[in-house]
Amino acid sequence: MTSASGNATGLEVLLSTLKSSHDVQSTLSILQILDELLSAGTVKRISYMISKGGSEALLHTLVNMTRIFPPNYHVFLPLMHLIVKVGQRDKGFGQKAQEIGATDETLNLLKVSPPQPKYVIPCLWALKIYAASASTGAALGNSGIMRLLFKLISPYTTKNTKSIRAATEALSALLKSKWNSRRALDNGYIQWLLKLYQDWHQRDTQNKYISIHKALLKCIRNITNTQMGKKAFLQADGMRVLLSASRACGSTTDLQPIVKLATQIMRRCYPKEPLPLLTVRSCYSFVLPNTADSQILEPPGRFPQEDVAVKGNDEKEGDEDSTENEETGYNEDEDDLETDVTRLRPNPQLDRPVEELKQYERLCPELIGYFQHLRDEQTNGQDNVSCSAFFTTPGHQRHKKTREWQEDLIEEDPPMPHNSFSSRGANQMDLADSGGESERLIKNGCAPIQDSGRCPEQPCGGITLKPSKHKMKETHWNMQRASADSSEKNIRLQEVQNTRGTSVGGEESSRLLSQSWSINTEYTPHDSPRKLSEMCREMIPFHDPYVYTIMAEKTKSATDYQTLAFPDYWGHTAPLYQEPLTGQWCGHQRDKIFEDIQRFVNPGDSLNKVIFDIGSLPLVTPAEDVSLKFNSNFESGNLRKAIQIRKYEYDLIMNADINTDLQHQWFYFKICGMRAGIPYRFNIINCEKTNSQFNYGMQPVMYSVHEALCGRAHWVRVGSDIYYYKNHYCRHSAVTRGQKDTSYYTLTFTITFLHSKDVCYLAYHYPYTYSTLMTHLHLLKESLNPDQIYFRHQILCSTLGGNKCPVITITASPGSQPEQLHQFWNRQYVVLTARVHPGESNASWVMKGTLEFLVSDDAIARSLRDSYIFKIIPMLNPDGVINGCHRCSLSGEDLNRQWSEPNPDLHPTIYHAKGLLSYMRSISKTPLVYCDYHGHSRKKNVFMYGCSLKETLWQARSSIDTATLKEDIGYRTIPKVLDRLSPAFSINHCCFLVQKSREATARVVVWREIGILRSYTMESTYCGCDQGKYKGLQLGTRELEEMGAKFCAGLLKLKKDEWSCSNQLVTEDVGLLDFDNELQNDRHMSRSDVSVDDEPPCPEEIDYYTDNCAEEDDDHIDLVTELNMSSDDELELKK
Ligand SMILES: [Zn+2]
Repeated sequence: MTSASGNATGLEVLLSTLKSSHDVQSTLSILQILDELLSAGTVKRISYMISKGGSEALLHTLVNMTRIFPPNYHVFLPLMHLIVKVGQRDKGFGQKAQEIGATDETLNLLKVSPPQPKYVIPCLWALKIYAASASTGAALGNSGIMRLLFKLISPYTTKNTKSIRAATEALSALLKSKWNSRRALDNGYIQWLLKLYQDWHQRDTQNKYISIHKALLKCIRNITNTQMGKKAFLQADGMRVLLSASRACGSTTDLQPIVKLATQIMRRCYPKEPLPLLTVRSCYSFVLPNTADSQILEPPGRFPQEDVAVKGNDEKEGDEDSTENEETGYNEDEDDLETDVTRLRPNPQLDRPVEELKQYERLCPELIGYFQHLRDEQTNGQDNVSCSAFFTTPGHQRHKKTREWQEDLIEEDPPMPHNSFSSRGANQMDLADSGGESERLIKNGCAPIQDSGRCPEQPCGGITLKPSKHKMKETHWNMQRASADSSEKNIRLQEVQNTRGTSVGGEESSRLLSQSWSINTEYTPHDSPRKLSEMCREMIPFHDPYVYTIMAEKTKSATDYQTLAFPDYWGHTAPLYQEPLTGQWCGHQRDKIFEDIQRFVNPGDSLNKVIFDIGSLPLVTPAEDVSLKFNSNFESGNLRKAIQIRKYEYDLIMNADINTDLQHQWFYFKICGMRAGIPYRFNIINCEKTNSQFNYGMQPVMYSVHEALCGRAHWVRVGSDIYYYKNHYCRHSAVTRGQKDTSYYTLTFTITFLHSKDVCYLAYHYPYTYSTLMTHLHLLKESLNPDQIYFRHQILCSTLGGNKCPVITITASPGSQPEQLHQFWNRQYVVLTARVHPGESNASWVMKGTLEFLVSDDAIARSLRDSYIFKIIPMLNPDGVINGCHRCSLSGEDLNRQWSEPNPDLHPTIYHAKGLLSYMRSISKTPLVYCDYHGHSRKKNVFMYGCSLKETLWQARSSIDTATLKEDIGYRTIPKVLDRLSPAFSINHCCFLVQKSREATARVVVWREIGILRSYTMESTYCGCDQGKYKGLQLGTRELEEMGAKFCAGLLKLKKDEWSCSNQLVTEDVGLLDFDNELQNDRHMSRSDVSVDDEPPCPEEIDYYTDNCAEEDDDHIDLVTELNMSSDDELELKK
């Protein structure tokens, strides 16, 4: 204690003596002591010295010593050594030096010093340190120092290289000041710097003076901080100079820092420009119901060119993405956490009058019709009438004649008066409707009624839900395509045509399909496409091309697509092999960026040929044209424009979500005209997210028609050299809405096709369309035994686009014994939803797994059906899915932000889904579990978001005493069980915080307003896993479907926990799940370590963001090393 304060006093005394000393000898002695003190110590010691006025003392000494003439270098050298050492650690050093007058003195010293390096170098380094302060740098600039420095910086030489380096470093520090930078431009320094760099690069063949190359580049970088600097750099042909120099560096390790710096400079100087589009607004718009034309979101039009956010280069494009708008990359900002305890408690309330909820009775027919019926039977004592009478319709053959099942496919319920279920059994006979209808309804287990009254769920007036006769109101679609249907005249497949004239896969796919017997020897020449189709049906479970065609015909799109995508038609099965994460494509990323820069340097090299443009007439291509052909005129397709850049390279632009000008991430399009064995590069140039799993091992997916016809009907992960990086296209200021980051991002990948003249489909992720869903639902129902499984397909409501949003009920058909009926009535509800975000097709595959599992013969599935009634809305946003949107509905809004106050006209599916949940609550049937399936683009694994009062308060570091608050921690059970049951699931990625920004999401609203404790968002990665059994693998549809099945299995644990084992039905099944007791035990263990492992924003070694030009810390200078006697300079001097 005493020694420390003694030291402090000693140091202070020493410094004050030094400061006032004008005597060379005593100054020298003190400097020696200080040097010894600092050489032994750490950075801490230097900081301590600074805090005690060390910087000022040294600078005063410098001023004092310069008053002695001639300069005494015995003092100056150790003094400068200390100044450099201390100054580097003192942020205010430049300012202090200026105030004390040391800057001028140092400059003078430099001017009068002998030209030897040992005198010059210390001054240069000191000047560099002063110039770290911008105002000091600017002041130094006024004194003409740059000219002086420039004289010291020579073209390539082996002499005085240390002086040259120090001078260049000092210059680069000075150029951080905008004033100096401007002065340098006025003097034409940028040309000189480029010439000097080129000279050193070319002649320093041994790469002995890399630090000089680097210092020169730093000068250039600092000048190009300004808009003027960028312009001058371009005028001086800087791009060409740096590009060729960087390319020449190759992959030499030592040179990589230089290449990195040069790449940074080139990318920031690449002139910003808008996307090559007339408007970034979606090609399609949709007139919303009940909105006057004037209320439609801004009409599409050409941007005023100057309005494009091309400026902004001078802005610090700092850490972006604070506005991440998904349940993704959830905002860790503590300010976003809810801390109002009243809002952190479920507070069930109805958002509409109870009478309005009555309309949802029809969506719980198992409660009204069936229940009532059973109850009536019981009360009437008609036990001899089996309650399964409704289910005794003989199971249908799966493949019926077309006409028959065409009628049957009309799954939706007609409008139903609420009291229509009072009659039962016998009324089957009364039905005088047209054949198939009553059959269908009987099979559905419900008594059909007359089609009377207005459908309660019509959201947008005019469109009625009359089965099969619906014609879409053409006026609803405001087509802006110059030529909507002139795109491709399809050769219709004889076997697969329908009334709309939709053809499968377009001309090329049809060709392949009709030639397929020559492709695969398994097929005899007599096979027709129809035969093939039947074979395909056998190969792919729950798929049927014919059913699909019927379903697709009924699907209504804004894009009015004319073709059916072949993969949708033909079907997909997961390949048998697993697909590993690719690892990072090290080394080639820069080559890709150089290729991009090359386009600017040599514009003549680029073809810039528009191959496909949704807004224009199809291009007539000569027969010898070898360009690829693109199309996306099918469900979920969204290619907007394709531009051929080089012979085998294409820029692609995705269409924005309808009624918006953003949300580009999903892509799905068709390619044909390829040649086998040639690497084609594709660049999707209008991505918006700031980072992507494409940088972390993910690949896009591809489906080859040729392969499918050979029996390999798979979407597979493809592509190499996959990178995702910021490009030079900038977003319209109206689009960025105040975001700092105005750039688009490029996803680039390279594909080498297996077959020439194949037809391939490429997508962001395994597509799963609305028509596919409807097909699967139909086949699912056909596949099951109605005696055992109660499966009901109803319509929640009609969407804005006139499509029907299905809701499925699955449970076990009860037996007729009173205790069985009692058990049936007491079953708890589980409500599942998916695909509110159309680009998250992974959610649909998970849902497919859930549905198929629930109707399966699996013992757990049977037990689940016995325990629960499942209400499933498998696609909350059919319109978005159909029209190839990524995030929005036709209203241009994110439907998962509308749950608080859904508008029945604009957000019908959300309004009615919430209505259904509210209804269940109002009749005391609040579901036990609610889960909304999503996809996550920036994280690996599958995980859940839930809602916890305590964890939110803890995380927010709230002052509220959480010990006094009670919370049921039952919300943790499912994630814990899934962590053990499901290989893809990771509890470590789960999070149970309630964020204000998520207030209007399904998860939070259902938890808070409906009062469901176990309300979740389940996020499935687009990519793969970094833990568990699938570690290192990308997820395929098999794994996603498995996740869906495992999720259900996990629900059985709740049953085990919640229900008493006295119930015989339950006890039988408890053994099905082999859980350890441990699970039960740690259930009450408090967990506060819910960690959220976000993918790091961007690893250092990949410079995707080089545009930002993060200043690296300079290496710390040690003058002793710099003045090392063995240096070249000194050798030079001795000669
Ligand atoms: Zn989502």
